[in-house]
Amino acid sequence: RKLVIAIDGPAGAGKSTIASRLARKLGYVNLESGAMYRALALKAIENDVSFDDSASLLRLAESSRIELQPQIDGNRVLLDGQNVSRRIRERDVTEGASRVSVHPPVREWMVARQREMGVNGGVIMEGRDIGTAVFPDADLKIFLDADPTVRAERRIEQNAAKNDEAAAKALREDLLRRDQRDTTRTASPLVPAADAIVLDSSKLGIEEVLTRIEQLIAE
Ligand code: C5P
Repeated sequence: RKLVIAIDGPAGAGKSTIASRLARKLGYVNLESGAMYRALALKAIENDVSFDDSASLLRLAESSRIELQPQIDGNRVLLDGQNVSRRIRERDVTEGASRVSVHPPVREWMVARQREMGVNGGVIMEGRDIGTAVFPDADLKIFLDADPTVRAERRIEQNAAKNDEAAAKALREDLLRRDQRDTTRTASPLVPAADAIVLDSSKLGIEEVLTRIEQLIAE
């Protein structure tokens, strides 16, 4: 039987790396739910819609085609047919995704789309509310955590901000602000599901996390 696996946790905990490696091993698809919030934020920027305007954001979502195409190393993201995979990783969109995701109607729309993607199983979905809201009946729920300093350093490495102290500082602050927003919002705040297995990637290496998850699947 093909399983549904939920991987949640804060930014920089290693969710994408773990999810894509695991997908490859199992022959499953890896779906990055955060990319959908990013695509909506980009559409809001392009249409001059405020990140605070819940009703307009919902209308915008309803009139958008957001597609996730799983690839070996992550998702290709199409917004109304355009490949926006790179653009949605930029700073303005990253901040926007965090802000559009606080609105309950936006979340409801996203959750409904995301559930449709999991109906046949064979799916690893990563995000913030997969185990709590999108797939409460997932076969396995992992909550991947790590210390904020470790997570920030990983983002700094990824964004080549290593030798730019100002850029590194901005990245650190952005990450903490997004964490704060994710954990304090009223709609689906970022918390582990009651039945999630919490793994800490500041203490475990990638291989160890993967091994642990494979053991859990085998049980
Ligand atoms: O995972 P990623 O960093 O791409 O997600 C972008 C933003 O979208 C996060 O900061 C979070 O606020 C939001 N998000 C969410 N629920 C999800 C996935 C992402 O609220 N399932």
